[in-house]
Amino acid sequence: MEKAKTKQPILTDVHNHSNFSPDGVSTLTEMAAEAFARGVAYYGISEHINYDVCFFVPEKDKANETTNEQAYNLAARKLQREYAGKMEMLVGAEFGYLKDSETLKAYCEYAEKYRPDFIVNSIHLDGKTDYYLRHAFYEKDGSLREKKTVYAEYLSLVKESLSAPYPYDIVGHIGYSARYAPYPDKGMRYEDFKEEFDSILTEIISREKILEVNGSAQGLAGCTVTDESVVRRYFALGGREVSYASDAHQTISLMRGREEVIAFLKEIGFTYITVPCRGKKIKIEI
Ligand SMILES: [Zn+2]
Ligand SMILES: [Zn+2]
Repeated sequence: MEKAKTKQPILTDVHNHSNFSPDGVSTLTEMAAEAFARGVAYYGISEHINYDVCFFVPEKDKANETTNEQAYNLAARKLQREYAGKMEMLVGAEFGYLKDSETLKAYCEYAEKYRPDFIVNSIHLDGKTDYYLRHAFYEKDGSLREKKTVYAEYLSLVKESLSAPYPYDIVGHIGYSARYAPYPDKGMRYEDFKEEFDSILTEIISREKILEVNGSAQGLAGCTVTDESVVRRYFALGGREVSYASDAHQTISLMRGREEVIAFLKEIGFTYITVPCRGKKIKIEI
């Protein structure tokens, strides 16, 4: 008797970094080779374009804080051509949103100049420093700030970033600040910030952007950075466009948490993953 054929899933991992990014480890060649070896059909690289961080550092230090744009785009487009027909490699960028007109203008110029295949729009800064540095969680005298206050501030930044003037596709890792929070319960759940999340999620839907489901949960409860309750609420509000990202900075982290994330999405009712590609949205059945 013939065995029932199980359909092979089409693998996607859109939003990754190589050592072109200041915090990347593996080379771009290694990252792409690993993705290809693991059968990834749509592999999206998105180096950090940190104009947000650069705003706060002296001119002489700026080069250490962001990606060498020209070198990155040249190398990535070359690799993209080499993988053509074998793996769809997408050359993207991750923009760190900052409410500053010159910074926003610089991102628009980047988008115009390099025409990324996709753009991830992310909040990394508490307004001035990256959440991973943990300054946001403490008062000047060293005492811990209230979780409710810090998270509400973070969510207001996410909300603000949705009206960025550049053509972004994906709203990156909502809940990023929770990863680094010093609280015993780091959770940034829908129930505790209903108004904020409803406002963000409905705007993502009305702007036809993609909500990223980022598998780099790093110590958070559940399999994704964005709390599972928030992904459920997005679906309940009618949101259907989700992307999967490992947000890997080295080969070993590619596709991290993917199976768990996909099982979770299917359980909610999602039937496809969306891959943004040069202004189009490709729907991949899950
Ligand atoms: Zn990020
Ligand atoms: Zn990233």
